[in-house]
Amino acid sequence: MTRIGVLAVQGDVSEHITALRKAAADSVVIEVRAPGQIEECQALVIPGGESTTISRQMDSSGITGELVAAARSGKPVLATCAGMVLVSREIVGEGRFKPLGLMDIKVSRNAFGPQKESFEADLDVRGLDRPYRAVFIRAPVIAEAGGDVEVLARLDEGVVAAREKNLLALAFHPELTDDSRIHQIFLNMLED
Ligand code: GLN
Repeated sequence: MTRIGVLAVQGDVSEHITALRKAAADSVVIEVRAPGQIEECQALVIPGGESTTISRQMDSSGITGELVAAARSGKPVLATCAGMVLVSREIVGEGRFKPLGLMDIKVSRNAFGPQKESFEADLDVRGLDRPYRAVFIRAPVIAEAGGDVEVLARLDEGVVAAREKNLLALAFHPELTDDSRIHQIFLNMLED
């Protein structure tokens, strides 16, 4: 049976678990927070939250290396919001932590400004036949993407969904809506 791990050091972990259990009824979804757990999973989710905090907690839990190895080995990784910041290769104007460099993207944190802290938008997502209503919360955007990165959706401020091989990065929160089509894109990556 497929085992999907949700990185559970900080952020909206329980929402992801609930959404995944709904979208992938035949999978086991577990919280990942200790060394040894990532190896047992076939796919991983890095949730939204506060990227600096998640980065520090991951380092102190001793799981950063395992996460990087899993992503490099080709396991599907869904990185949402703060997760997208974490998997990037560079953060615009940021010196507080070094991102993991798993995706060839440069991200800008809190890219919609304080006046637009959280909002919803109808996105045209590549591969979906009708708009997807996305929830954004203090969201980052992808300011630059390398040649191997497939852009899946964008807003005026920048790219908000992208895929590079086994990594799917989203600026928004698919776990906060009932529409499971984005989770389905991620689950389909398990078949690739
Ligand atoms: N602004 C947060 C960060 O960069 C991300 C916000 C979120 O995950 N909802 O860490």
